[in-house]
Amino acid sequence: MNSFQKIKVFTLDTLFPIHCISCNYEGLWLCEECLEKIPLKQEWTCPICEKNITPGGRVCFHCRKKSFLDGLLVAASYKENLISSAVHYLKYRFAKDLYIPLGKILTKALNNSGLPLPEIIVPVPLHKRRLRWRGFNQSELLAEYLGENLTPGFSIPIFNNLLIRKKYTQPQMKIKNYFRRKKNIENAFMIDTSSMSFSPLIRGDAPKGQRGQEYGMKKENFLKNKKILLIDDIATTGSTLFECAKVLKSAGAAEVFASVIARQENKK
Ligand SMILES: [Zn+2]
Ligand SMILES: [Zn+2]
Repeated sequence: MNSFQKIKVFTLDTLFPIHCISCNYEGLWLCEECLEKIPLKQEWTCPICEKNITPGGRVCFHCRKKSFLDGLLVAASYKENLISSAVHYLKYRFAKDLYIPLGKILTKALNNSGLPLPEIIVPVPLHKRRLRWRGFNQSELLAEYLGENLTPGFSIPIFNNLLIRKKYTQPQMKIKNYFRRKKNIENAFMIDTSSMSFSPLIRGDAPKGQRGQEYGMKKENFLKNKKILLIDDIATTGSTLFECAKVLKSAGAAEVFASVIARQENKK
């Protein structure tokens, strides 16, 4: 979508108020009632072999050696029409506020999964070109929602700019071939702590997502032995998450678990 089309979408949304994408209820992109009806996954499989059933989507014993990622919690099915259209509206119709109901879905899924709470939440970054185009990073919005809502009365640190996408890649969803997808995203990420604040400031001084100082962290090896939760909207082959986990593990993270709203059919 070019900027002219963007303006068109914006104008249409302003002239014609927001309606629930399912029942047409005015004022919300996805109303509470429709949100409640979306079934969440109750059983998960290992994200690598996609065969063995594991608690919360942990990587199974047989695949452990092959993976930097420790698990992938998938909240709902991509086959649910409301899920696929809500993600589509969020990403391509710029319905930014949809991060709230989708964030609720992720929060619920994580609370139901019985997985331990992470120490740090890291969203999968967008390349700056795509960020400019969309105006927001949907994974960042979801991560922020989780950080505030996963545990009542306590927020989990989110590091928005810790991972950066150094390679401009084609959207994984657009590539049909599994090996080309893998190749497309290989070594696309790196760690960058330059935008993070580690000085002993008062809470709230540094921008949200950069407040390393809040948690008594030191810049040197602050990821060491940490349990990290990676957030993305949709997983396809999982290659993006595996690549991010590789970088975080090489910086000393003890565990990297990922969570997504849904996983698209993975035809190897
Ligand atoms: Zn509705
Ligand atoms: Zn497995």
